Amino acid sequence: MEDLMISWEEALNLVLGNLPAPRIERVPFQSALGCVLAEDLVATRDIPPFFKSMLDGYAIIASDIEKVPVELTVVGSSRAGGGMPGRIKSGEAMSVMTGAPVPEGADAVQGVEQTRLSLDKRKVTVLTPVAAHENIVPPGYESKQGEVVLASGQHVGPAEVAVMATFGYGQVAVYQKPTVAVLATGDELVEYHESPRPDQIRNSNAYCLCSQLQLMGIKADYLGIVRDDKEELRRKILSGLMRDVLIITGGVSMGEYDFVPGVFRDLGLEVLFSKVAIRPGKPTVFARQGSKLVFGLPGNPVSALVTFECFVRPALGRMCGMKNPGLPIMRGELLADAKQTPGRTAFLPAWAFCQESGWKVEPLPWKNSADIIGFARANATFIFPRDLEFLHRGEIVELMLLPDFFARQR
Ligand code: AMP
Ligand code: MG
Repeated sequence: MEDLMISWEEALNLVLGNLPAPRIERVPFQSALGCVLAEDLVATRDIPPFFKSMLDGYAIIASDIEKVPVELTVVGSSRAGGGMPGRIKSGEAMSVMTGAPVPEGADAVQGVEQTRLSLDKRKVTVLTPVAAHENIVPPGYESKQGEVVLASGQHVGPAEVAVMATFGYGQVAVYQKPTVAVLATGDELVEYHESPRPDQIRNSNAYCLCSQLQLMGIKADYLGIVRDDKEELRRKILSGLMRDVLIITGGVSMGEYDFVPGVFRDLGLEVLFSKVAIRPGKPTVFARQGSKLVFGLPGNPVSALVTFECFVRPALGRMCGMKNPGLPIMRGELLADAKQTPGRTAFLPAWAFCQESGWKVEPLPWKNSADIIGFARANATFIFPRDLEFLHRGEIVELMLLPDFFARQR
């Protein structure tokens, strides 16, 4: 079964259908940024907690100033944080600052620009009328005590952190991010700080994958390079299985030294698929052992990057509590002709941008699935449908925005 070549959609469904139940943890609210909330949070008090002035000006009784100009007696002032003010009566005004409580009896605030204060500051002349309730926000206007202000499942961004602070939530329940290990395989690999022999290359995939994880707010355990040796591979995979998710790159295709799928089977992992009809990334392997997940991604750098986005991100995102964990898919107009050998859904590098008339997609030149240099110019991939050979300029295609899309500029 697992040797069958399945479609991208089927493979993604298998991944999403084989995830462990998400875990929940309590964290300090400042650490919840980038997580998904796992509980409803309610307002612990009314916001605002009092009748609040929206302006610097004078709290007055609207019926007192129907006919202007009118002189009122100034009976004190209310500033933000300066205690609760008293009460005013007809014929009186109280100076109030933005955000300060309005005194009892007052039903409106007139802005300071519409008034003249006497030299001795005991009288204020109001020059324009104001309707009752103007420039005053009643208690609970923004939220009432007990009301749900953040819902379970909500992604925590800066505004959510502000809401938590507003209501004094020092600790909140969020979906725990899974722990992830990354392993590179191949006798030809050396590390970036080493000098490769003529037959060697530097390992780039491990750093690419760790960076992709970092953009998801997940700090990976990088377990290093493992040689194309079954025993060493076995040992390293076993140590990778200490984490929730293990990502291996290289050694998954049909070559004589591609030992990864065999070792998965020897270790009793349940292999759910090992061939997907996508380009790049055909020999992607997905396996599990109980609640542990293992992804075997192809060694070619673009394949590793693309298959992470196609399969690993949705899995990790869902484990983190996200409802829609995949990259956003848009539809846009292709700006040049494109061609492929039909049979696989292709994810090709593109520069995408949004204009008034919609999304535009410029296909980028690249040489093959090893060409990470060409791919580094992309901010999106456009999706070449599996059964098509040609796409023409002006046609509408689907495109997947890369995770740092909004940070990338030309
Ligand atoms: P493999 O999937 O092991 O057959 O590798 C396919 C291609 O990707 C080969 O050209 C490898 O040298 C290359 N490759 C494998 N692993 C890495 C890596 N970690 N970084 C860069 N290139 C790699
Ligand atoms: Mg290899």
